[in-house]
Amino acid sequence: MNIMKPLKMVMAVLGMAMTAGPMAPGQEATRSRGLRIEFIDVMGGAATLIVTPLGESILIDSGWPGHDDRDPKRIVHVLKDLDGCDHLDHLVTTHWHTDHYGGVGGLSRLVRIDHFWDRGLPEDGIHGLDFPDGPRESDPLGIAYRAASRGKRKALRPGDLLPIKGLEATVLASGGRVIEGTRTDSSGLPSHNPLCESAPPDRPVDGSDNARSLAFRFRFGRFAFFDAGDLTWNVEKKLVCPVDRIGRVDLYQVTHHGMDISNHPTLVQTISPTVAIMNNGPRKGGAPATVKLLRSIPTIEAAYQLHRNAATGADENTDPSRIANKDQAGGAMIRVLVEPDGSSFSVQMGEDGEKQTFRTR
Ligand SMILES: [Zn+2]
Repeated sequence: MNIMKPLKMVMAVLGMAMTAGPMAPGQEATRSRGLRIEFIDVMGGAATLIVTPLGESILIDSGWPGHDDRDPKRIVHVLKDLDGCDHLDHLVTTHWHTDHYGGVGGLSRLVRIDHFWDRGLPEDGIHGLDFPDGPRESDPLGIAYRAASRGKRKALRPGDLLPIKGLEATVLASGGRVIEGTRTDSSGLPSHNPLCESAPPDRPVDGSDNARSLAFRFRFGRFAFFDAGDLTWNVEKKLVCPVDRIGRVDLYQVTHHGMDISNHPTLVQTISPTVAIMNNGPRKGGAPATVKLLRSIPTIEAAYQLHRNAATGADENTDPSRIANKDQAGGAMIRVLVEPDGSSFSVQMGEDGEKQTFRTR
């Protein structure tokens, strides 16, 4: 009898035990699968979770407060139960509106958060920044954010890079300003964008925090993802006119929940995504003009929504098979899995629903 055979079996069993032991069920899968991007349903707020192949986690916005911590619980379920992370490495808050940072208090009670990134707080005293929508010192959400992030936060400026291993995370806009030049770019962007000649006119200046939202481009190999929070029309245009500062992307988080005071056509035409995912709610976002715009972009192979807009007709929503939540109560996410080499990515409806695969350009 070959003595090596039982020895190999013992080693195989030990190996399995070592793999399954200290890790939660989803963790090993995460590490072997490449990059995950999960659009967690927070009912018309924002909560986009990115987990790298090394298990580093980045949450962009934390949903609404209240409802017995509905949104923090949904986020923690995905982070811990599905992705196997025991803490959150980075929490990014794009701007100071309730649907983007309302969940911070609840989230920080449920999970350890190591780093906080935002567009600045009034007390930072950063020259040239204004804070039309707070957060004031006396605002309960402002109190919760300051308490959770004390000693662990940093304000981001255009051109900054988040320190994430294996993922290029570039800040393209912050506080109403956009990245200058193409300092961090690696794809050789053109100096002039011809699409600007047919750009629609500017809108009245947006005095709200939306216009001051953080915007990011994430690159993983050839794959690129653009998330601009709730950035509005005139600043969106500055990102692509007269010079394109974004480049083409594969995945577009439809800005501002699909509202039509955002989603500047020249920006969407310029980034020419393959897939668009809208984090709308049953009664928030999902504007017919935005749905129509996305249909007009020739590169878009699939447009997804977290919810059907209950106020508009079926033809003013995307294909029902690409709407994650049939039930208005929601809770189902949309998950993007990018191959380890960035060559292709799949979009999955819910935790174990249908998947469609797309090639990275
Ligand atoms: Zn919002």
